[in-house]
Amino acid sequence: MAAKKLLILPGDGIGVEVMAQVRRIIDWMSKKRKIEFDVSEGLLGGAAYDVHGTPFPAETLAAAMAADAVLLGAVGGPKWDDLPFDKKPERGLLGIRKEMGLFANLRPATVLDALADASTLKPDVVAGLDIMILRELTGGLYFGEPRGIETLADGSRRGFNTLVYTTAEIVRIGRVAFELARKRNKKLCSVDKANVLECTVLWREEMIKLQKDEFPDVELTHMYVDNAAMQLVRNPKQFDVMVTENMFGDILSDCAAMLTGSLGMLPSASLGAADADGKRKALYEPVHGSAPDIAGKDMANPLATIMSFAMCLRYSFDMAAEADMIETAVKNVLKGGLRTADIMQVGKAKVSTTVMGEAVVRELDKMV
Ligand code: NAD
Repeated sequence: MAAKKLLILPGDGIGVEVMAQVRRIIDWMSKKRKIEFDVSEGLLGGAAYDVHGTPFPAETLAAAMAADAVLLGAVGGPKWDDLPFDKKPERGLLGIRKEMGLFANLRPATVLDALADASTLKPDVVAGLDIMILRELTGGLYFGEPRGIETLADGSRRGFNTLVYTTAEIVRIGRVAFELARKRNKKLCSVDKANVLECTVLWREEMIKLQKDEFPDVELTHMYVDNAAMQLVRNPKQFDVMVTENMFGDILSDCAAMLTGSLGMLPSASLGAADADGKRKALYEPVHGSAPDIAGKDMANPLATIMSFAMCLRYSFDMAAEADMIETAVKNVLKGGLRTADIMQVGKAKVSTTVMGEAVVRELDKMV
C-alpha cells in the first residue's frame, strides 16, 4: 500500500506543543502497526509570516494540495495582532480552507465518562453523549452576495447579507451527512428555518429528495434552528448526526462543544469534494486556538489534536480500528486519573502536555 501523505502544520502558540504529541502517536503507528506515513511539515499563520512575509505561503498551499490529509495545530497570537488584515495569521487558516474547497465541517461532541461532570449541564443529561454536527462551511450567509453596508439617500446606512444555497451545494453537504449517518446510527436531523427562510425551504426539499433517492435506509428528521438550540441543551442525546447551514452550524456546534465542558478535548475535520476515486481533500484540527496565555509552558491539553488525528485515520485513511485504539487510549488515560490543567478535577493528577502525550502512547502499548 502506498504511504499515506500527511502534511503537518503546527502553526503558532500551543499548536506546536500539541502537535509534538501527535508526532509520538504517528511514530507509534508506524512502528507498532506498520503503517507507512509520508510525513512532511509546513508553515501556516504567524510562523509562516515570520519566514515568508505571508501567513499562507505558496509552498504550503502546494503541499496541502498534494497531501492525502492535512493536520493543523492552531494559528495566531499577540505578536501578530498589529499586522494588516491580509497578513494576520487567521487569514492563513481561512485561505487554506478556501483553497482546499473544504465545504463540510465535522464537529463531534462526545462526553467521555471520566469528564461527565466537567460540563455545566447535569451529568445525566450529557453522560455518554456522542453526536456529530455537520456544518456547511463555504456557502450560506457568510459568503452570499450581495453583501455590504451602504449609505441611503436620506444619509442613513443599511447593512445587508444574503442567505443563498444552490441545489448542488445542498446536495453535496447532504451526501456527506447521510454517509456519516450511515456509518453511525442511521439517524440524520436536518436543521433549517423553513418556516421563515425560502432558502432553507429549498434546503429541506433537497434533503428529502436525497433521502428518497439515495439513502432510504437513513431516518431523516427536520428541526427549526431555534428549537434545535433548545433541544441541544435540554436533551442532546436525542441526536446522532445533525446537518445545517454555515451560520446555524457555527452557533450550534459551539453550543454542542460546551456540552462537553472543555475546549482542550474537541477535535474537528473539514472535508472537500470527492475526486474520481472517492477521496476527499481533508484538514483535521482541534477546535481551540493557539492559547497564547499558556503557550510555551507545557501546559496545553494535547487530546483534542490527538483525537483530530484519530478522525484523520477514520475519515481519510479508512482505518477505523486504529482510530478506535487512539480514542480508547485517551479514555483510559483519563480513567487512570491524569489531567492537564484545563480539565483538572479534585483528586486527580495534574500533568504536562508532554506527560499526557506519553501516557496516551503507554496506553496504546498495552493494546498490542
Ligand atoms: P483559544 O482557544 O486559543 O483559548 C481560549 C482559552 O482556552 C484560553 O484560556 C486557553 O488557554 C484555553 N485553551 C485553549 N486550548 C487549550 C488547550 N488545548 N489546553 C488547555 N487550555 C486551552 O482562543 P482565544 O484566546 O480566543 O484565541 C487565541 C488566539 O488563537 C487568537 O490569535 C485567535 O485568533 C486564535 N484562534 C485560532 C484558531 C485556529 O487556529 N483554529 C481558533 C480560535 C482562535
